[in-house]
Amino acid sequence: MEEKQQEETIDLDKVYNYNEYPDKKSGRCDNCDSAFFKNSIKGGVFLRECRQCGMKKSI
Ligand SMILES: [Zn+2]
Repeated sequence: MEEKQQEETIDLDKVYNYNEYPDKKSGRCDNCDSAFFKNSIKGGVFLRECRQCGMKKSI
């Protein structure tokens, strides 16, 4: 059986690139819709991590 359904599942171990995955709602987590983030800078890249679910995005 072949299913060509591609659901957008969020991989919490992955760091998403903001250019490829812009916010569905600006300033909110795509996964849980939370607006609370933990920010850090790694190797000159701004990293935004959701405080609720841990989804990471480089901005
Ligand atoms: Zn989240």
